[in-house]
Amino acid sequence: SDDRVFNFAAGPATLPAHVIKKAQDELYEWRGSGMSVMEMSHRGKEFLSIIQKAESDLRTLLNIPEDYAVLFLQGGATTQFAAIPLNLCKPDDPVDYLVTGSWGDKAFKEAQKYCKPKVIWSGKSEKYTKIPSFDGLEQSPDAKYFHICANETIHGVEFKDYLTPRNGILIADMSSNFCSKPVDVTKFGLIYAGAQKNVGPCGVTIVIVRKGLIGNAQAITPVMLDYKTHVDNNSLYNTPPSFCIYMCGLVFEDLLAQGGLKEVEKKNKKKAELLYNAIDESNGFYRCPVDRSVRSLMNVPFTLERSDVEAEFIKEAAKEKMVQLKGHRSVGGMRASIYNAMPLAGVEKLVAFMKDFQARHT
Ligand code: PMP
Repeated sequence: SDDRVFNFAAGPATLPAHVIKKAQDELYEWRGSGMSVMEMSHRGKEFLSIIQKAESDLRTLLNIPEDYAVLFLQGGATTQFAAIPLNLCKPDDPVDYLVTGSWGDKAFKEAQKYCKPKVIWSGKSEKYTKIPSFDGLEQSPDAKYFHICANETIHGVEFKDYLTPRNGILIADMSSNFCSKPVDVTKFGLIYAGAQKNVGPCGVTIVIVRKGLIGNAQAITPVMLDYKTHVDNNSLYNTPPSFCIYMCGLVFEDLLAQGGLKEVEKKNKKKAELLYNAIDESNGFYRCPVDRSVRSLMNVPFTLERSDVEAEFIKEAAKEKMVQLKGHRSVGGMRASIYNAMPLAGVEKLVAFMKDFQARHT
């Protein structure tokens, strides 16, 4: 009895239905405050309790040590592409980028304005289907940091383990696999993620940064991009995206209630396995180009052997309430994003549809 569809969008993406309902319950009047979260002062005690709880639940989920700051910022992950070099480098500093997809490439290009980044490996010639072995990588001797995109949302390539850079700190864009599995935060100097895939609505970006790295931004750094501004003011230097932070808080509570990220990862693995198996066992009717060892648990790109029926596939799926399956315009084909909040039932339904569609088109 529900108008909701299974939404396979890459982001903004599906959120847990009961979280949306809870927000709906509290939308008009939040817990005795006489107003909605959207109307509250960001400096009042009600909102302070919301942001503090969101931070503390996230710290529990990811086991974030005290010497790391947690920031709730605006401007999307895209703004971090500039903020990172501005905060951590001088204009002549070398830094390394491992480019495993278009997001890593965008991050590298933005960094060129603020420091001296080098692409030490790129998967472009192999259409971004691989992650190299860490042993053979030639890292720059004086690199200040080593940047990776932990999960390439468009190409569906995901790091399964992380290297320790020979020099400098490890930095990861975790926009599309944030809180999808446990992560050892201490391996990183900085982690950043737009919320709009796994943990909330668009409009808030989460940065987790080792406190010792903060306070050396380039002089030209806008005050809003200087991490020190936000660390010193607990993310309340200016008006924060308060409703988005509230929504993230509800999602963090839900992830904890599920038993934490180990449990969440188990569910994600099960969903991904179901879908990849359906692709691999289709006798080539469906195909996923990504190297098996680095296939993403979150974004599953696939093509149809018969590209002439791709449009039909998308149309029929939508009729059955499965939407947003079209691949990114840069790669074509299909992409099913199956973030934390995609229920197993959604993936089961997609797989059943794929089998039926194949039977009707071979
Ligand atoms: N990095 C990754 C891995 C992404 O998937 C995205 C958004 N799809 C971005 C960065 C850019 O994020 P935003 O739109 O929040 O700036």
